[in-house]
Amino acid sequence: MSAIFWFRQDLRLTDNPGLLAAAESGDVTLVYILEDDDAGTDKMGAASRVFLHHALSNLNQAVSGHLLFMKGPADICLQQLVAATGATSIHWNRCYEPWRMKRDSQIKTALQNSGIEAHSHQASLLWEPMQIHKADGTPYKVFTPYYRRGCLAAEPPRQPLPRCQPVWAPRPAAISGLSLLSLSELELLPAQNWHDGMMQHWQASEAGAAEALQQFCEGGISHYAEGRNFPAQPYVSRLSPHLHFGTLSPQQAWYGAAASRDPHDRDLDIFHSELGWREFSYQLLYHNHQLKDQNLNQKFNSFPWLDNPQFLSAWQRGMTGYPIVDAGMRELYQTGYMHNRVRMIVGSFLVKNLLLHWHHGEAWFWDCLVDADHASNSASWQWIAGCGADAAPYFRVFNPITQGEKFDKEGHYTRRFVPELKDLPNKYLFAPWSAPEAILTQAGIRLGETYPRPIVDVKASRQAALDAFATLPKAS
Ligand code: FAD
Repeated sequence: MSAIFWFRQDLRLTDNPGLLAAAESGDVTLVYILEDDDAGTDKMGAASRVFLHHALSNLNQAVSGHLLFMKGPADICLQQLVAATGATSIHWNRCYEPWRMKRDSQIKTALQNSGIEAHSHQASLLWEPMQIHKADGTPYKVFTPYYRRGCLAAEPPRQPLPRCQPVWAPRPAAISGLSLLSLSELELLPAQNWHDGMMQHWQASEAGAAEALQQFCEGGISHYAEGRNFPAQPYVSRLSPHLHFGTLSPQQAWYGAAASRDPHDRDLDIFHSELGWREFSYQLLYHNHQLKDQNLNQKFNSFPWLDNPQFLSAWQRGMTGYPIVDAGMRELYQTGYMHNRVRMIVGSFLVKNLLLHWHHGEAWFWDCLVDADHASNSASWQWIAGCGADAAPYFRVFNPITQGEKFDKEGHYTRRFVPELKDLPNKYLFAPWSAPEAILTQAGIRLGETYPRPIVDVKASRQAALDAFATLPKAS
């Protein structure tokens, strides 16, 4: 008997329920199918594709070169593989993007109709969306009751499973139409090499994920509750791309962290609840398939967003004249990541100071983040814009000057990504235009030349946003 295991967002050998089940059926053919056509507008962004390339390369090494690569549509690829291998069953782990859920169920039916067993497994969430709901069966819309009354009162997440050592099936014989590709033929890497620098910040592999988790458990987690707000400090886990691509499972993160702390530890509780936000985002997506496109709170449909390509370009390039915003946008571009506190600051600046639609932010993050995730990105942008579930109230506008002063007091983060301001004293770092001319000269800064003047006035633009908000219908 032989089985096929279809890797998707679970690029690991440990704690992989679908792979373990496939291995129990006999020898296993391993395949990764790039699904650009099926994904439509959900096609992966540039930074994610680079991370994926490296994760696949490392996974292929870990399975001694037995990973097959194909390009979708997935239903056709799987049919070809069944014909070429004589496999009698196919296993995969569930994903929750709306296009995938619809497509997976069609594939499952078609396979079963042709006598092939098709099994899906639970591997990338701690609690599946269909599992957690209110007593009346409706989904939670507010995070705290969702997490505390829903998740924590449900069965605890399953323990991670052991590493799987499958018996690899022989490479399938060539059959007409079987289009196996090499990894480089998936063309995940862009023609122009901007990505080597970005990938210096990541080890895109199961081993790299395990190392990041271990480092966090030995260090960062001990200050997580407070320290996670300070972008210059090493108190966040940076596990997000690993959780997205599945080089690490959320169960491994949950129990790995738990093993390193006292069960009642506050830092552990907060870390677990952040994993809970990831679950909540998936729950929102599961019940709102248009999360990426449509405001959850429909009163925002008539919000008078501006159309200003110059503002958008300045924001994207990290040239707004607000140093903490520019530092965040440059961190994103250079490393494929941005610290959560700064994601909130730049997000608020885009929608509430520049008055640009949150869709622009969602799309830019989608292209630039190595952890770009349909559920978390859409839910977080809606949260920032004030139109999401349990969202930040629209009238709460992050002030980029005071946020910088509070969360990057010594300016280490800002100076790292905006080096043209490195010699400006802390007192003026987050509002360079307020520095006396002599100080600017001493720091080698010519505003408007070496560093931009602010593209909007932060107070006036905040007021404009509040005025625009006041025009919305009162009932939500
Ligand atoms: P840690 O603080 O160490 O948290 C551990 C894990 O918990 C993270 O890896 C992540 O999986 C999860 N998590 C933490 N905070 C959140 C959150 N607010 N929402 C959902 N999950 C969370 N996260 C993504 O994974 N992909 C995205 O595309 C994404 N887009 C975002 C866009 C905006 C505008 C904002 C404000 C946040 C976004 N986030 C996204 C959430 C959060 O910023 C990142 O998950 C976090 O910064 C990743 O860094 P970390 O792994 O060091 O996090």
